[in-house]
Amino acid sequence: MSEILVLAEHDGESVKKVTLELLTLARRFGEPAAVWLGGGAEAGRERLAEFGAAKVYVADGDGVTDYAVAPAAEVLASLVAQASPAAVLLAATGEGKEIAGRLAVKTGSGILTDAVDLTPGEDGPVAEQSIFGGAIVVKSRVRTGTPIVAVRPNAVSPEPSPGPAELAPVTVELSEAAKGARITDRVAQERSERPELTEASIVVSGGRGVGSSDNFALIEKLADSLGAAVGASRAATDAGWYPHQFQVGQTGKTVSPQLYLAVGISGAIQHRAGMQTAKTIMVINKDPEAPIFELADFGVVGDLFKVVPQLTEEIAKRKG
Ligand SMILES: Cc1cc2nc3c(=O)[nH]c(=O)nc-3n(C[C@H](O)[C@H](O)[C@H](O)COP(=O)(O)OP(=O)(O)OC[C@H]3O[C@@H](n4cnc5c(N)ncnc54)[C@H](O)[C@@H]3O)c2cc1C
Repeated sequence: MSEILVLAEHDGESVKKVTLELLTLARRFGEPAAVWLGGGAEAGRERLAEFGAAKVYVADGDGVTDYAVAPAAEVLASLVAQASPAAVLLAATGEGKEIAGRLAVKTGSGILTDAVDLTPGEDGPVAEQSIFGGAIVVKSRVRTGTPIVAVRPNAVSPEPSPGPAELAPVTVELSEAAKGARITDRVAQERSERPELTEASIVVSGGRGVGSSDNFALIEKLADSLGAAVGASRAATDAGWYPHQFQVGQTGKTVSPQLYLAVGISGAIQHRAGMQTAKTIMVINKDPEAPIFELADFGVVGDLFKVVPQLTEEIAKRKG
């Protein structure tokens, strides 16, 4: 069975959820082989094994994690040459997409980004992408070289399936070009108790209808009752009611959760572009004509200041 390389995202010991999703997808086409850059592979190995990694290529030499982006592309390119994998899967994050682009150039391969699903086809993996602000869904496949596919977080639910995850050390000799941008400092992001926006299974977003930064406490309470991340429309972030890093949409983050709850958001095309691929969409809006209802699987026409507290209370009751 052909190998499918999966670039592991990790913090030096724990593996990010998106990597488990990529391993789950990789099992549809072949034998997943994780690629681990830097130290800590022993710590992450158990989790990779749980989700079916047959092998873990460990590249931990020549300062591979001391430089931005380029070393990852070089390591992957040398593994593509050595192992002739049937595909390479990466997370469609900013960094993942940049590595994927560089890898495509180095290997003379085709690349697909922002895939929301990946299925086996006669001539290799077929990726589903949501384009033109989410208005159209297209299916594509790579016809040249090794398919390189950047998949959005939450494209699939990670499913365990044990694998041996044998550690396979890789010799790294970086070119001078790969050492162009040295990382001089790393600052741990302040983390809230909430899940990371792009990885969360549930996202509760507030828009202009929320009315003020103080009122965002309502959105946060609802999110916390569901174990969800909080998002916001650009109208809300531009007004300074919620930090920009939580903006969902064309010029913000792209999310693809199992459940997206849009509260006081009208559904402008630029907002839809960031959330349209959510599996289930629920809307709370007082205007029954708001365009966001076109996307909704469930909609409540009502005043959010009445609906949200009742919803939060009901969820808390049901959770006992
Ligand atoms: C180049 C460009 C890029 C952009 N990028 C983004 C982006 O990344 N993300 C993004 O979100 N936008 C983006 N925008 C802005 C976008 O066009 C919209 O202006 C924005 O999404 C509107 O935000 P909103 O839905 O919160 O506000 P509005 O459109 O004003 O909608 C507010 C909604 O709240 C409802 N409401 C009001 N009060 C209540 C209440 N008490 N209870 C229930 N409902 C209530 C109203 O009925 C209305 O539907 C971009 C625009 C441009 C031009």
